[in-house]
Amino acid sequence: MSTTHALARTNNQTIPFVDLEAQKNLIKPGIMAAMERVLDHGLYIMGPEIEQLEAQLSQLTGAKYAVTCSSGTDALMLALLAKGVKRADAVFVPAFSYFATAEAVALLGANPVFVDVCPDTFNMDPQSLREAILKIKNTELKTVGVIAVDLFGQAAPYDQLRTVAAEFNLWVIGDASQSFGASYQGKSVGQLAEITCTSFSPAKPLGCYGEGGAIFLDDDELFEKVASCRNHGQGATPNDGLRLGFNGHMSSLQASVLLEKLTLFEGELILRRAVASRYTKALQDVVKTPVILESGLSTWSQYTVRVENRDEVAAELNAKGIPTRVYYPKPLNEQPAYRRFPVAPNGVNVSRQLCQDVLSLPIHAYLQESVQNHIIEQLREAVARNS
Ligand SMILES: *Cc1c(COP(=O)(O)O)cnc(C)c1O
Repeated sequence: MSTTHALARTNNQTIPFVDLEAQKNLIKPGIMAAMERVLDHGLYIMGPEIEQLEAQLSQLTGAKYAVTCSSGTDALMLALLAKGVKRADAVFVPAFSYFATAEAVALLGANPVFVDVCPDTFNMDPQSLREAILKIKNTELKTVGVIAVDLFGQAAPYDQLRTVAAEFNLWVIGDASQSFGASYQGKSVGQLAEITCTSFSPAKPLGCYGEGGAIFLDDDELFEKVASCRNHGQGATPNDGLRLGFNGHMSSLQASVLLEKLTLFEGELILRRAVASRYTKALQDVVKTPVILESGLSTWSQYTVRVENRDEVAAELNAKGIPTRVYYPKPLNEQPAYRRFPVAPNGVNVSRQLCQDVLSLPIHAYLQESVQNHIIEQLREAVARNS
C-alpha cells in the first residue's frame, strides 16, 4: 500500500496511481505555515499539535479517546500490547491483507491464525472465523482475539464478527489503516471495534508527509495502557517503568500536516466516492466491480476490480501508461514469514482466488474525469482483447 509515486507516462500525460501533487498544490501555503509554527515553538515531540489533532480525531470518529502514534503498524502493536497479547496466544486475522496485520501479532511472539474473506467485499468471513476458532480451541494455543481489516476502505462486517467473537469471549481490534473516514450501520470507523487502529501513511486516504497512525477507543483503562506503551511503558512518573512499550509518538510536524489536510478531508471523501461510482457505472458489464454493503460508506482507499487474465490485462494497461497495482498477490499464509502459522480448517480459497484476479485502478480525489475516461476505455479494450 505504500508505493506513492510510481508514475507512468502516456503520450504527454503522466497518470499517477495516487496523486499527492494535486492536493499539495491546493494546500501548500497552509502546510508551510503550520510547519513553521512547529519550528517556532520547538516542541517537536508531544507539541500542542498532537493534542489538537487528537481532539479533532476523537470528535470526527466519536471515539472517547484518539491516541496518535508513529504508524499504522505501531498502532496495531500498541493495541496488542495494551491487550496483553503474548506467546502462545492465537489472534485471528484475514489471509487477504497487508503484512502489518499479521506481523504485529507475530512480533509479540503470538500466533496469527489465517481466516478466509468474503468474495464480494474482500473482508473477513464470519463463517471461516468461527471454524478457525473451533479448530484452534482444540490445540494448546490460547484463543484471545480477532483483528478485522477494513480492506480497501470498507468496514468489515463488525456486527457479525463481534457476534462470533463474543460467543468465544474474544476481543475484536479493527485494522482501519485504509478506512479512516468510513462508516458502517450508521457508526463511524473508530466506534466499530473495542480498539481501532489507523494509518496516516502518505498514500492512505488521509496521509501525512511521513509515517503516522492513530488508535481509537472508549475504555479508560485501555487508554491508559495505550498511552503508556507509546512512551516506553511509563507509569505515573517519568522514572516509573511500569510495563513494556516503545517509542511510538507521532511527531508534531506530522500532526501539523494532518491538521491542515483535515480541512480538505470531508470534501475529498465525497470526490473519491464520485470517482468510484463513475468507475462502477462504466465497468460493471466487463469486470467484477467492488461491492459496498448497503449500510456502509467506503473511503475508497483502493478501487479494486476482479478480472480474468489479470496479469495480461495489467501489462497492457501499464504499456499504455496506466498504472495499476495488485493488492495482494499472495495470501499472507503463503508468504515465507508466515508459513508456520495455522490456517482456517477449510483453507483460504477465496483469498487465493482473489490474489489471482484482483487489480486496483488509480483512484484519488483529484482524478480528472477525462483521465478517468481514458483509464476506463483502455481497461475495457484490454479486457476485450484478453477474454
Ligand atoms: C497501510 C496498512 C498498514 C500499516 O500502516 P503503516 O502506517 O504503513 O505502518 C496496516 N494494515 C493495513 C491493512 C494497511 O493497509
